[in-house]
Amino acid sequence: FDISCAPILNKHKKIRGIVVVFHDITAIKKLENTRKDFVANVSHELKTPVTSLIGFTETLLDGAREDKELEDQFLHIMLHEGRRLQSLITDLLELSKIEREHFVLQWAPVSLSDVLESVLLILREKAEAKKIKLEYLQGDEGVVAGDAFRIRQIMINLISNAISYTPENGTVTIAIHERKSEADLVISDTGMGIEQDQIPRIFERFYRVDKARSRDSGGTGLGLAIVKHLVEAHDGKIHVTSVPGKGSTFTITFNKSST
Ligand code: ADP
Repeated sequence: FDISCAPILNKHKKIRGIVVVFHDITAIKKLENTRKDFVANVSHELKTPVTSLIGFTETLLDGAREDKELEDQFLHIMLHEGRRLQSLITDLLELSKIEREHFVLQWAPVSLSDVLESVLLILREKAEAKKIKLEYLQGDEGVVAGDAFRIRQIMINLISNAISYTPENGTVTIAIHERKSEADLVISDTGMGIEQDQIPRIFERFYRVDKARSRDSGGTGLGLAIVKHLVEAHDGKIHVTSVPGKGSTFTITFNKSST
């Protein structure tokens, strides 16, 4: 509580009473703590690749570059760390833009299947590199009300996660199902799955079930936080079902376009 007091004086300037105001600041404190946690997380996430970049640069300057093989190995690590820093900054900027109060979508009728076809073109390579079968069960077109660019972002994040968290020779299946006034985008994988109690947490910023695995796959820990915000901006819904060791299904429900 925040407490403030003020005396009430009569016309002879004598104290008649006191007004005490108790201000419940639990919500404000909570918000402040969330903000502090976020800043601490961001600092930590940014520090790790920067420390590594500086460390390897110093070692190279100290003479390691005379060994060509070692130099090559270090440069590859530095490139990887530099790219990680780049994705982190891109995702952070994106999240801060989306979370802003005045963030607006460019509403139009969007064909989910058209957007999906273009997303599959860019993710096919990532799937092939892991020998993962990327399957699109063609059916409904799913013309929904939304922002094509943002829906594309939702699809990229969810399908790349499905590929990242599925071991080699697995399958990622995508389908679109239309109903009367809604359309579902369903992304299923035969991957590692998520424990039931972890499911609500994966949408938090920087939350990862397995930090090391997320980093290895180039994850920033922000992908699903971005998805959650974008789906909410579309008045859509997210539903996740998962069986650890068997796989997960992410279903995104959009509202159909009336035109
Ligand atoms: P990251 O960059 O770590 O992938 P996300 O916000 O996209 O961050 O996801 C948060 C966490 O949720 C991941 O680190 C992973 O532990 C879990 N996760 C997301 N998608 C899947 C999936 N398809 N299968 C299993 N775990 C998943």
